[in-house]
Amino acid sequence: MLNEKLQEYLDSLIEPRHGLLAEMEDYAQKNGVPIMEPAGIEAMLQLLRIQQPEAILEVGTAIGYSALRMAYALPMVKIITLERDEERYELAVDYIKKADKQEQILQIKGDALLLEDEVGEHAPFDAIFIDAAKGQYKRFFEIYSRYLTPGGMIITDNVLFKGQVYEQKAESKRIRSLVKKIDEFNRWLAANPEYDTVILPIGDGVAISKKR
Ligand code: SAH
Ligand code: MG
Repeated sequence: MLNEKLQEYLDSLIEPRHGLLAEMEDYAQKNGVPIMEPAGIEAMLQLLRIQQPEAILEVGTAIGYSALRMAYALPMVKIITLERDEERYELAVDYIKKADKQEQILQIKGDALLLEDEVGEHAPFDAIFIDAAKGQYKRFFEIYSRYLTPGGMIITDNVLFKGQVYEQKAESKRIRSLVKKIDEFNRWLAANPEYDTVILPIGDGVAISKKR
């Protein structure tokens, strides 16, 4: 996304993680789990440190990596996180237990498109992090934004999808259609009168939307 040298330089300034987080990064890498990229997650955590939310909703737990990063960065925050994949959900249960953060992080297993009522019981949220199926971003945004507090923030990951969204050179039909959906989401978001949005070209592209 950013030129490679710049990316490498910025990444070299990020403190390496140790212990459990390093173990999780290693697992993610070996098993193709798309956890958030280092520069992207650092930017998100910094915004959250500034915002100091009381409650965060995460759509897409995977193995619990970003949830734990947020929990460590904001020891008082309550996190609700959604995951539909059984194996990843269970791995996240184990990792979160190992980190002794099960009081702070509530995991819900299921399809985020169907969990609105259950999530609603824990609303409202000061921040929402959308990091699940990219073709459904608009729907996740529409479903869960109603539970956002006034002035709250919605962070959406992977909105530049490895540069494919602006390169428009995808080979397969499936990727082309996904890229089109992400592009439509970005345009819809940028033109949404209820939010101010900026897209940061770091990590895999991170959209920051603040409710007006
Ligand atoms: N936020 C994580 C990475 C999430 S990867 C981190 O940075 O550590 C995206 C995850 O979203 C995958 O594990 C996938 O199974 C899950 N997902 C995709 N669509 C979903 C849906 N509709 N409901 C719940 N989870 C979904
Ligand atoms: Mg992501």
